[in-house]
Amino acid sequence: MEINDNMISEIIERVLKEVQKKSINDRYQNGIYDRMEDAIEAAYEAQKKLMKMSIEQRERLISAMRKAILDNAKSCAKLSVEETGMGRVDHKYLKLKLVAEKTPGTEVLTTKAYSGDKGLTLVEMAPFGVIGSITPSTNPAETVCCNSIGMIAAGNTVVFSPHPGAIKSSLMAVEFLNKAIIEAGGPENLITSVRKPSIEFTDVMINHPKINLLVATGGPAIVKKVLSSGKKAIGAGAGNPPCVVDETADIKKAARDIILGCTFDNNLPCIAEKEVIAVESIYEELIENMKKNGAYEITDDEAEKLADIVLTKKEELKAEGCSINRPKFEYSVNKKWVGKDAKVLLEQIGINVGDDIVCIIYRCDKQHPFVQEELMMPILPIVKVKNIDEAINVAVEVEHGNHHTAEMHSKNIDNLTRFAKAINTTIFVKNAPSYAGIGFGGEGYTTFTIAGPTGEGLTCAATFTRQRRCVMVDSFRIV
Ligand code: NAD
Repeated sequence: MEINDNMISEIIERVLKEVQKKSINDRYQNGIYDRMEDAIEAAYEAQKKLMKMSIEQRERLISAMRKAILDNAKSCAKLSVEETGMGRVDHKYLKLKLVAEKTPGTEVLTTKAYSGDKGLTLVEMAPFGVIGSITPSTNPAETVCCNSIGMIAAGNTVVFSPHPGAIKSSLMAVEFLNKAIIEAGGPENLITSVRKPSIEFTDVMINHPKINLLVATGGPAIVKKVLSSGKKAIGAGAGNPPCVVDETADIKKAARDIILGCTFDNNLPCIAEKEVIAVESIYEELIENMKKNGAYEITDDEAEKLADIVLTKKEELKAEGCSINRPKFEYSVNKKWVGKDAKVLLEQIGINVGDDIVCIIYRCDKQHPFVQEELMMPILPIVKVKNIDEAINVAVEVEHGNHHTAEMHSKNIDNLTRFAKAINTTIFVKNAPSYAGIGFGGEGYTTFTIAGPTGEGLTCAATFTRQRRCVMVDSFRIV
């Protein structure tokens, strides 16, 4: 047989492909790669395999993932706090448990049908393919686990670009989820990531032709970046949730609920109460009751000292956070103190308290940076207002148009409705701690990617799908 040029180039191409495949395999370890390009390529190949599985088989993988999250929740929570220095192990455990138990799977995928004389038309929820997901340092493993369940349930594979400061716990989640999937009979690489995430790798992901959907969970910089990519993007951005208390509220319960919500994981969740706006007739009573629930009130002098520590003028210490449309302030939040215990923060200004103190409260006006900034630490400023009208105006102003989350304690339906309409947030919690809004002690499913800027709301498998119309015409009936 004669060998011609075509045959030679075919052989070379085949050999090159084999070498490429082998070199990717050599670098593979439970979905984690050295190069972002390899992580994307592997997820792309894996998605083709996922598409060959039935929805029932897919659901079996989801069940295995839920079990793996529960089995690893304690150690993952511990690792997360160790590496980031933020939050509380007990609360991070509860958040992971919540993800395992209340993140929707394939059951939320629905098909719309139109039937009539001309036949049958179906509108199905189809996968995007490979999703690029950028995750935060504040809920690192929670976001990886929650997004993985929703994205895979919808038939996608996912490539994660985790926050470099939370890489160990994020990759731990990638590994235990992949292991569970493979043991349940699923393909390798449904979830991939890179060993050392960087802005450069995130840019590779954003611009890669095989990434069909971008999902960013974080501060304004990354949300803006994905929305400028020219691709379909879901942005879950910053919040600064105000909590309004009016004179009709059950003040004892309001005080307890506010402290519980504000101190959950040391105020890291984007939904947590960040400032309270209380009408003057119940202001003192509310503060007294907060003190009975683990709050320590600081004076003006102490607040000044604390502000010098937890706020910074230095750009390099700045934590990303707070609002696309926020006004320009002199100070930013010093990320060194984000997610720290109230006790530790108080120690910095020479106040020693017991473990029963979980929150620092401070009376101030609405201009104070503790109100204006998304602190993400258990410092709760409390603003006094004359009446509900002023409360609503102040709350809308300090939320900075994020339309993220707000809370209210009131028994007056008109007041509740007026505030809900005025602030128009993705989550509005009435008479409960903020975390009820993500299904913790409240009805409804959970998510750790709350898409306010792009409007998808609390994301789930259905969010990560494309609409696909399938039309069958009954030609016999057409006249
Ligand atoms: P962050 O914005 O610093 O980081 C988020 C992710 O974006 C990380 O992976 C980071 O590496 C990446 N990133 C940031 N800037 C980037 C850039 N210029 N280029 C490429 N990548 C970039 O946020 P964080 O401190 O990890 O998390 C806290 C913030 O996230 C808060 O503002 C909080 O409100 C918000 N958040 C929102 C939600 C939500 O569901 N809406 C959930 C969690 C956190």
